[in-house]
Amino acid sequence: MLHHKNVVITGGSSGIGKAMAILFAAHGANIMILGTSEEKGKNAVEAIKQAAMSPKQCIEYRVCDVSNFISVENLFLQDIVKQFPIIDVLVNNAGITRDGFLIKMKEQDWDDVIAVNLKSIFNTTRVVVRAMMREKKGKIINISSIVGLVGNAGQTNYAAAKSGMIGFSKALAQEVARKNICVNCIAPGYIETAMTEVLSEDVQSALLQKIPMQRMGIPLDVAKVALFLASDLSDYVTGQVITVDGGMVL
Ligand code: NDP
Repeated sequence: MLHHKNVVITGGSSGIGKAMAILFAAHGANIMILGTSEEKGKNAVEAIKQAAMSPKQCIEYRVCDVSNFISVENLFLQDIVKQFPIIDVLVNNAGITRDGFLIKMKEQDWDDVIAVNLKSIFNTTRVVVRAMMREKKGKIINISSIVGLVGNAGQTNYAAAKSGMIGFSKALAQEVARKNICVNCIAPGYIETAMTEVLSEDVQSALLQKIPMQRMGIPLDVAKVALFLASDLSDYVTGQVITVDGGMVL
């Protein structure tokens, strides 16, 4: 479904991003993943290569803090462009949480969450969409959260960032639709990754009771929807938010 497509996935070294990279590679895509930990990146590249359709596919990792505007611009314009003169699909997936009730939240925890989850998508998308506009095609997939739709006590920073991603995506979808570029969001519910591993057993069992499908999601659940949005099956779909949450938000 993604034969010869060039795909960049931020935060592709673990969890949901890694599952997307593995699935996309199995469908023939060339993959560039970005993250901050060199070791995690190297391990992920090995796993993605094993899943690839052919050894000729380009599967690479770059260290990059996507919240840093200059680092992102330099990386794309001076390095990634040599491997991928055209980027067919950009997945903005990198994200962090720094939870706490607002009255106790430190300014740094607010700033970090907004920078990594929200400012990052300005940094990457601004540089990539220009080339997509020249090519008159492209897919941009932003990984938001159901928390961006309905909020969650203890996550004002994260909810603001994830909600912001949805507004950004709808506005950009309108800007670039005539250039044949689709911009969509996925809003996952509770997915088993390092991010949710830290939740206590009590919190996890309380959450399970709110999920009609009675299980947490797995990264592949999200990756399959991302595959649809990355492929030509979704060529007439833009500005949408698809929840992948076992029916939590209806
Ligand atoms: P993980 O913690 O497993 O993965 C996060 C990824 O983001 C890692 O690859 C990490 O790489 C990367 N990353 C973090 N900070 C930066 C940075 N500054 N620059 C570049 N890369 C960075 O989390 P998930 O897989 O669970 O989350 C993926 C996305 O899905 C996030 O946006 C998250 O908010 C969203 N989401 C997750 C849900 C869940 O239940 N798990 C639910 C709803 C949304 P490294 O460590 O190398 O920096």
